[in-house]
Amino acid sequence: MKILLLGKNGQVGWELQRSLAPLGELLALDRHSTDFCGDLSQPARLAQTVLAYRPDVVVNAAAHTAVDKAQSEPELARCLNATAPAALAHAAAEVGAWLVHYSTDYVFNGQGETPWQEGSATGPLSVYGQTKLEGEQAIAAACAKHLIFRTSWVYAARGANFAKTMLRLAAERERLSVIDDQHGAPTGADLIADVTAHAIRRVMHQAELAGIYHLVAAGETTWHAYASHVVAQARLIKPELALTVKDIAPVPTTSFPTPAQRPLNSRLRTHKLRQAFGLVLPPWQQGVDRMLAEVLG
Ligand code: NDP
Repeated sequence: MKILLLGKNGQVGWELQRSLAPLGELLALDRHSTDFCGDLSQPARLAQTVLAYRPDVVVNAAAHTAVDKAQSEPELARCLNATAPAALAHAAAEVGAWLVHYSTDYVFNGQGETPWQEGSATGPLSVYGQTKLEGEQAIAAACAKHLIFRTSWVYAARGANFAKTMLRLAAERERLSVIDDQHGAPTGADLIADVTAHAIRRVMHQAELAGIYHLVAAGETTWHAYASHVVAQARLIKPELALTVKDIAPVPTTSFPTPAQRPLNSRLRTHKLRQAFGLVLPPWQQGVDRMLAEVLG
């Protein structure tokens, strides 16, 4: 099997380099790659890469992920999150390849408390969410052999994310305020990458599994409870940390105005994925604790 991976140095892309390696021949690119173009800002050249390499599977882990910045550069966000995935989808369809892609809880409007299902009505609140939704739709229209995984609150030992920011602040600050009215599930890039590899193997023999799936760790939390968990765990490893859990104050989203509006309800129902692929998604704390041990150990 030949696999083309885009965005090899992102949180998910880095873990995919590991999890996809045993499946076959892997060509992993980033935006600076020279032999083949891996730059999402050049959709036509990206399509040429697919047509020239003729992979069996294209995995796109690259995206415009700077949610607030996307508000002020919507053309670039649309190019990276919608136009480039559309070009990949057309090229993948032309060579008969599968396209694996990642999307987000931000395609939803965040109302209510019920976990969103794959078929729930979308209603993005931000340019990022809107352009990611357009990417999903373009892929589904152009390439029947697709897997789109919507995930949320991604973290990894490598890369920038909320958990690592909390670790840094725990060493620097004596008090913190963290939002307590947004609900979701922190999801490890390693879990996403492992599930991706498993799903790719399955769809090779079961094409009817193509489609969109919610892929998040089990359970739910808030940013405040997540931060408290990170600090409590970190203090077990590093008792000298300045910050304690009681120094973390819960505040509403309105306390931190940002250019992009975030959904309050980011809960994603994963029943479809678990049933289709026969998988168990572990509780979110399990992966977070493992990442903390890796980072702090
Ligand atoms: P990261 O921000 O860690 O990685 C994104 C990657 O995209 C980076 O390696 C970045 O490269 C690359 N990239 C940016 N611009 C271009 C470009 N023009 N050409 C090629 N590559 C480019 O994101 P994650 O790994 O966390 O996200 C993976 C997927 O999951 C994305 O589709 C994202 O939308 C989705 N997702 C992420 C969530 C999160 O919390 N992070 C939540 C929900 C969904 P560089 O390092 O050079 O900038």
